[in-house]
Amino acid sequence: MTDFEQLAALLFPDVTGTVADLEARFPPRSLKEGARVTRFAPSPTGFLHIGGLFSALISKLNAATTGGVFLLRIEDTDKKREIDDGVSEIIRGLTAFGIDVDEGVIGFERETGDYGPYQQSHRAEIYHTVAKQLVEQGLAYPCFMTEDELAAIREQQEAEASPTKGIFGKWAKYRDADFETQKALLAEGRPYTLRLRSPGREEHRISFDDLIKGRIEMPENVQDVVLLKTDGIPTYHFAHAVDDHFMRTTHVIRGDEWISSVPLHIQLFKTCGFRVPKYAHISPIMKEENGGKRKLSKRKDPEAAVTYYAEQGYPKESVLEYLLTLANSNFEDWRRANPTAPQSDFPFNLKKMSVSGALFDLTKLVDVSKNVISMFTADAVYDGARAWAKQYDSELFTLLDRDPAFAKAIFSIDRGTAKPRKDIAKWNEVKAYVAYFYDELYANDYSELPENITPAMVTEVLTAYKAAYDPADDKDTWFARIKALCEPLGYTPNVKEYKKNPDAFKGHVGDVSTVIRVAVTGRRNTPDLYSILNILGETAVRVRLDAAIAAFAQ
Ligand code: GLU
Repeated sequence: MTDFEQLAALLFPDVTGTVADLEARFPPRSLKEGARVTRFAPSPTGFLHIGGLFSALISKLNAATTGGVFLLRIEDTDKKREIDDGVSEIIRGLTAFGIDVDEGVIGFERETGDYGPYQQSHRAEIYHTVAKQLVEQGLAYPCFMTEDELAAIREQQEAEASPTKGIFGKWAKYRDADFETQKALLAEGRPYTLRLRSPGREEHRISFDDLIKGRIEMPENVQDVVLLKTDGIPTYHFAHAVDDHFMRTTHVIRGDEWISSVPLHIQLFKTCGFRVPKYAHISPIMKEENGGKRKLSKRKDPEAAVTYYAEQGYPKESVLEYLLTLANSNFEDWRRANPTAPQSDFPFNLKKMSVSGALFDLTKLVDVSKNVISMFTADAVYDGARAWAKQYDSELFTLLDRDPAFAKAIFSIDRGTAKPRKDIAKWNEVKAYVAYFYDELYANDYSELPENITPAMVTEVLTAYKAAYDPADDKDTWFARIKALCEPLGYTPNVKEYKKNPDAFKGHVGDVSTVIRVAVTGRRNTPDLYSILNILGETAVRVRLDAAIAAFAQ
């Protein structure tokens, strides 16, 4: 046995398998040519950030559009930062937006797929097997430096203004320790980390093609980075190489805060004898502020947390649709050309992602969402609003639940036409939207009446309309009847005529319908009045006409 092999046996007495065994246990996947294997790899340290959802979506699309696999891996190596229920929180967040995984963690201590375990805390044996081989090959070594020694080095490097900081070259005290020394320190029970014996050289540079950012050149890694911490738990870097190799990830898509680590990661893959995956680094979602751009912040911006969208009642389709507009600048043109196509038909392309960071704009989200909801069926609007209200607005829930057919009739107005109305952007607007249909929410309020309409005009129009109103009318007859009211009262049924000669009339047919509209709905702006009257029904219409007549009585 070589010294390295003896050292490896001392360090990893429990490891019985080999890397070759792992290669056999996690064989290359048999997928069709071009299929991508991608993953979302969050740490369960808190809420799901919209940026996390964004990168999960991008990863999912890459897998889905190529017939590949999208998996969820939980990176829980930092127990200190973890929150209770963190895993469930992530899964709830993803499923709420329809981002289902093909493989990986699917619930608390539940997973699916042949490339697991998918939670890093359950993969110690795998990391240790690879680490052992690195030690056997002289590519990793135990480092016994104490926290104090490391702090002293940091200070000295600061003082010397050393361009490269960390443990390398002369700082790497145990890099060249001989086996006898190592054995003695281990026998003493001294804590140690396992470090990479970096093959890098300071004068070397590496380059790689990032699928979003293009070609990037950086200095090679020279640091003897920690692979296993003193408790045997891997660092992010080592776990990334091991996991993405054995899960057979083809495309690592992640936030660009990792871009500076790519030289290290490439070196790790190569040192372990693994094939380097393709990288795509996503720029953070930005927000405009005081004319400048800054990252969307989980502290300052409520919209940074994905729970915000559920609370406000944005349908998941809207949020996804909006994220797609942020993801690919050509998405909106595609959508205009394919207004009803499912999002999954969009030919998503990593190369069309913003390099500088897409700008998040809530006003735009509202517009997108209005569009999305305008294409929903009345049943879908009802279901979405009801589900939201169940959790967030019990009064609205009771009303919607009481008479589904009535509520669906409201949502059907002007829906399914070539130009559907775009009144609702999120479910928390539904209550205001439907308010005048429900006596519980409706207050006789006529303040929206245009100023040119006097109380006398209201009284005469409504009294005449009350007499003429016939709930059995079809739409044309109904409108003809309103027109017929005009002349006897001094209005014209013809708007053009009115414009030509405004002094000759009290108003035109539009004013007459406005009076009726405000009297029964309290609003000047509503969907189709004929439909509203039909849904309200004769009794309610007459009660409201009477109430308005009474309110304007001299
Ligand atoms: N756990 C890392 C993070 O949350 C994952 C980065 C990656 O996708 O590789 O930032």
